[in-house]
Amino acid sequence: MSKKVIIVGSGNAALCAGIAALEQGAEVLLIEKSTEAQAGGNSRYTAGAMRFAYPSGDFLMPLLSNLDDERISKTDFGTYPKEKFRQDLIDFNDGQPLSLHQKILVNESYETMLWLVNHHIQFEPIYSRQAYEKNGRYVFWGGLTLAAKGEGVGLVEAEMSEFLRLGGQIRYETEAIHLVTTDRKITGVRCQTPAGVIELEADSVVLGCGGFEANPELRRKFMGEQWVKAKVRGTPHNQGKGIEMALEIGAAFHGRPDGCHAVPMDLNMPNYGNLDIPYLERKHYRKICYFLGVMLNAGGRRFVDEGINFRNYTYAQFGRAILDQPGQFAWQIFDQKVEELLYSEYRFWDASFVQANTLEELVEQLEGVDAKAALTTLRKYNAAVDTSKVFDPTILDGKATKGLMLNKTNWANTIDQPPFKAYPVTCGITFTYGGLQVNQAAAVLSNEGVKMEGLYACGELVGGVFYNGYPGGSGLTSGAVFGRLAGYHAAVH
Ligand SMILES: Cc1cc2nc3c(=O)[nH]c(=O)nc-3n(C[C@H](O)[C@H](O)[C@H](O)COP(=O)(O)OP(=O)(O)OC[C@H]3O[C@@H](n4cnc5c(N)ncnc54)[C@H](O)[C@@H]3O)c2cc1C
Repeated sequence: MSKKVIIVGSGNAALCAGIAALEQGAEVLLIEKSTEAQAGGNSRYTAGAMRFAYPSGDFLMPLLSNLDDERISKTDFGTYPKEKFRQDLIDFNDGQPLSLHQKILVNESYETMLWLVNHHIQFEPIYSRQAYEKNGRYVFWGGLTLAAKGEGVGLVEAEMSEFLRLGGQIRYETEAIHLVTTDRKITGVRCQTPAGVIELEADSVVLGCGGFEANPELRRKFMGEQWVKAKVRGTPHNQGKGIEMALEIGAAFHGRPDGCHAVPMDLNMPNYGNLDIPYLERKHYRKICYFLGVMLNAGGRRFVDEGINFRNYTYAQFGRAILDQPGQFAWQIFDQKVEELLYSEYRFWDASFVQANTLEELVEQLEGVDAKAALTTLRKYNAAVDTSKVFDPTILDGKATKGLMLNKTNWANTIDQPPFKAYPVTCGITFTYGGLQVNQAAAVLSNEGVKMEGLYACGELVGGVFYNGYPGGSGLTSGAVFGRLAGYHAAVH
């Protein structure tokens, strides 16, 4: 008899779990708290970018949906060996070695991309954000090369249609509120529905229902008081319920409780992401081109090395850095030289910014900022730029400032060509890193370190995949890798 598997959530991780369980012949029911229109979780909000290890550009060819794109023959995809992916993760591990979960993520990343392609998910190169044109060629940087066709919306739609094609069932407006156990084994899920509380039976349950980033009370509890003020970039539905339900029945909390992905965002963005806003507008609140300029806080001072590494390796940490500043805001300053390189969101119709023809006039317009101190900072910064080095955004160009208390390590252009523009930013939390502990089969572990019979987890709510930071594009890959594992084992356990 086929196994009955219930999967909680309908984002990338849950759908991958669903597809993998169906492949094993299980009877799969996916339950989603939100309406159908709001379903798909944070995964729907993403750019669909996925990080995976590949030894050479040839390995990308089986993943690409359109090999006829004439740019492909003029592209240097570079390489992203497993060793580099491991190192990128270790660099954010607070000195700890690679965790079991990180090893699984790296080792399974390419195979999982192939598996997705075999399930009709289409991928294309991210020319607009991860490559620059150089000597007539497209040169990729930072180890992140492909995104799902149609970005997050396209990814979730393609995964959902594959899930349904394989015979999966889905119930919307069905919120998991309690895990039912019999003799210490999971036997079902209690759910809140518009018609009241119901109980659904299962041989195994996969939790793929996101972290606690959208829950201010849990942010306060796990991350500290200041996180209550963070804006939420994605779905309002990831309230940490999956983690809470599992902890209630004895699961272990794992990972860094205050670890999270948090990004510089338009100061005037709404408090939550909103799928009702047209897709292009939603995405445009993000402001991550700080590496082309500088960021100033209320005291008129810089507070991070904006060019310490490629943007992929800093953007998820700099949201926290902004939250730590007085007033929880900062201003990003650019001059005309880099205007063309700023991502399209900086030119979007409702982007917040001020503009001036002199730095003196610009700093007067920076609301909440000590203008005199800001001007001094900008002048000192300009004087410290090494003008002998050539600016090159495709590499860590070493074009740095010298002699400042806080130097900028790469891409340090002078800010001296009008018009000058300044964009106010704050912290937008994307997702949380702390969550449940799972083993190599994505089975949830108890406080005693024992596998909890019939309970699996994947995606954002798995703790210990990321600690103090995040190489961009790893979240969806983690969801797919652990989703596939969780679905497989839930179906065959
Ligand atoms: C704006 C934005 C852009 C991003 N861009 C990228 C990117 O390009 N690349 C990348 O790798 N990562 C990106 N991320 C991170 C990425 O979204 C997450 O890592 C990933 O999507 C998480 O997938 P998931 O399936 O675990 O959770 P989700 O996709 O969030 O799905 C969780 C689902 O569970 C549902 N749910 C919650 N509680 C319950 C309950 N009690 N009962 C039933 N259902 C419940 C929710 O409604 C939701 O549908 C981005 C995130 C955001 C917000």
